[in-house]
Formats: sequence, structure tokens, C-alpha cells
Amino acid sequence: MKVYKIGDYEKFDKINIENIQNHLITWYEKNHRKLPWRETSNPYYIWISEVMLQQTRVDTVIPYFLRFIDKFPNIESLANADEEEVLKMWEGLGYYSRARNLHRGAKVIVKEYDGKMPDTLNEIKKIPGIGPYTAGAVLSIAYNEAVPAVDGNVMRVFSRLFYIKEDIGENNTRKEMEKIGQMVISQNNPSFFNQGLMELGALICTPTSPKCIACPLFMECTARKLIVQETLPIKKKKIKVKSIEMELAVLWKDKKILIMKRPTEGLLANLWALPSVEREKNTEEGKSIELELEENYGMHIKKGKYLFEKQHVFTHRKWKMKVYAFELIKEQKIDYPEIQWISLEEIKKYAFPTAFMKVIKDIR
Ligand code: SF4
Repeated sequence: MKVYKIGDYEKFDKINIENIQNHLITWYEKNHRKLPWRETSNPYYIWISEVMLQQTRVDTVIPYFLRFIDKFPNIESLANADEEEVLKMWEGLGYYSRARNLHRGAKVIVKEYDGKMPDTLNEIKKIPGIGPYTAGAVLSIAYNEAVPAVDGNVMRVFSRLFYIKEDIGENNTRKEMEKIGQMVISQNNPSFFNQGLMELGALICTPTSPKCIACPLFMECTARKLIVQETLPIKKKKIKVKSIEMELAVLWKDKKILIMKRPTEGLLANLWALPSVEREKNTEEGKSIELELEENYGMHIKKGKYLFEKQHVFTHRKWKMKVYAFELIKEQKIDYPEIQWISLEEIKKYAFPTAFMKVIKDIR
């Protein structure tokens, strides 16, 4: 039995690799889930689904995917949409930079490639937001090109299958895993091979309690033979989650509530929100938000009572959102496009991230 290290892939056993390819593809043909993006080789649909599936569960993605392709059935319709419309279709999925990148990518494909998704690695990599994983997924599934698609699930399978003990949180390991992907991918059926790996990682070779007994790679898997599958993959780097205290204002005028568009850069960029600021240390409760509205919009408001608190966890930060009622004392007669007074019924026309929807739900 061979124990591999990163860089050892030239020592992979050819027969072993052929068995892995055959067993995986046969298993995939028989066992894959019927998902809307699996019934097609349309590169646009595959692109959308792969981007939506990053950091998001399949069950959550299905209705979003169907609504999205119904609203934007092809690359051109996505390119011609307003960013606001695209964000609205993404509302609740999180990681909104994915939606903005899709939109930017569609514009580039229309302008530079006549609306057709490029079919070579060199060209597809030039599309904004398409990294090595998405490039591999689109090229292999839509065009049957032998390009690996290595994400966290696939790295987990490779770590166990080849008993690789390097830290998968390191960039270098990811690059080496892509080389392994290139070594082992089936040249005859790269589409089913890549999808088989993805499906295996999702259904069988799961992070905890992998179902080795049902695994098509049972005979080839080194970690299973050594009974160390649960100790792999190695991931040392832990993401530090920073806790941030936010203040949110509920401000009414003639049965309409004040909403504000978030800045064009950074977290939740360009989405709509309630007036909110990160609370500055050593300031009186509500003061930061009063100053923010006064300095930027000449609006004079006064803090009323504390309403409730909500939490929302992002990848790197946790927001503790303290919600206060405010009273409008005076406002300038200037229209600022980034602030609007709207009724609660009108909220559905605007793209709000989940963090704020949680608060709005309680206000209702
Ligand atoms: S045998 Fe077990 S550990 Fe190995 S690839 Fe299959 S599920 Fe994963």
C-alpha cells in the first residue's frame, strides 16, 4: 500500500487510477441525484448552479436556481439586467459578491465573446468571478473537457483516497490538489468523473462518518484501509469570527420606514438595509447613528426606546444588531437616491440581505 505526499502524484499507480475512474463513473451514472442543472449541458445553467452551490446547500439552491433562470434565461438577459434586479433574485442566498460577479461576467461574455461562454481554460479564466473550480466545472460538464474541478468536497475525497496529510487550508495544497485532479481525471468522460467526485463528497465521503461501506472507491481508498478516514482532511487554519456590535434605526414618517442603500464596496455592498452603523466604542447608545444621518443627509433624529436584538453570522464576523426606535425631528428637502421612505408592503421590491430581513420580520 502506498502512502502519498503532496508532489508524489507521479508515483500514482496507473491501474489504481483506472479503477478509480471506472468505479466512480459507473457509480455516478447509477446513483446521482436528479437536479435541475444535471439535466442539461447548457454552460450558462452550469455556471449559475456552480456559483450558487458555493457555500450553499443543494436544497436551498434549487428554488433560487429555477427562479433565476426563469427571470434571466440566458447570458444576454443577465447582462442586460439592472444590478438591483440581479441582487433581488439573490436575496437571502448570501455572499452577494457572487451575484455581482455573475452579472459582471455576463456583461464581459456578451461584449467579448458574442454572448457564448468560452470553451477553453485560457479564455474562461478571463471572465470575472470564474476561478479554477468554476472553470473546471463548466468546461468538464458543459464541454466534456478534461479539466479538474477541485473544491473543498473534492479535496476531502482526495485527502482520504490518497492519504494526503497536508493542510487543505493552505493555498499550496489546493494547487497541488488541482495537479492531482489533472492526473486522475478520466479523459473519456471528464464530465461524469468530476460530477462523480462532487456527488461522492456530498453523499458518501462526508466530513463526518463517511459511508465507506457504500463507497465505489472502497477498494482503492488508502485512508479506509488504514482506518484513518475520520482524521482527514487536515485543516489547521480556523477562521476567526470577529464580533461586531451594530446599531440599527427604525424610523417612521407617515407610515413609511426609512431604508438606506449600503456602500458600493465591502460587506453587503449595494443592498438595501435599515439605517445602521457599527457602534463606536465609548459612545452613547444611538449616538453613532444620529451622527451618521446628520452628517450625510442633514437629517436630525433622536433616539427613542430600545426594541430588540438580533444576531447574524457571516464567514468572518458576527453582527450583534441592537435595534432602536428613533424619532424624526427634521429633514432636508433634498432627494438622496440612496435613502428612501417606503411602506412595509413595498419592501419586497428591494433587495435586502438576510441579516436585515430578520430584523424587518420582527418589526412587522
Ligand atoms: S472509502 Fe470512505 S474515506 Fe475512502 S473515499 Fe470512500 S467514503 Fe471516503
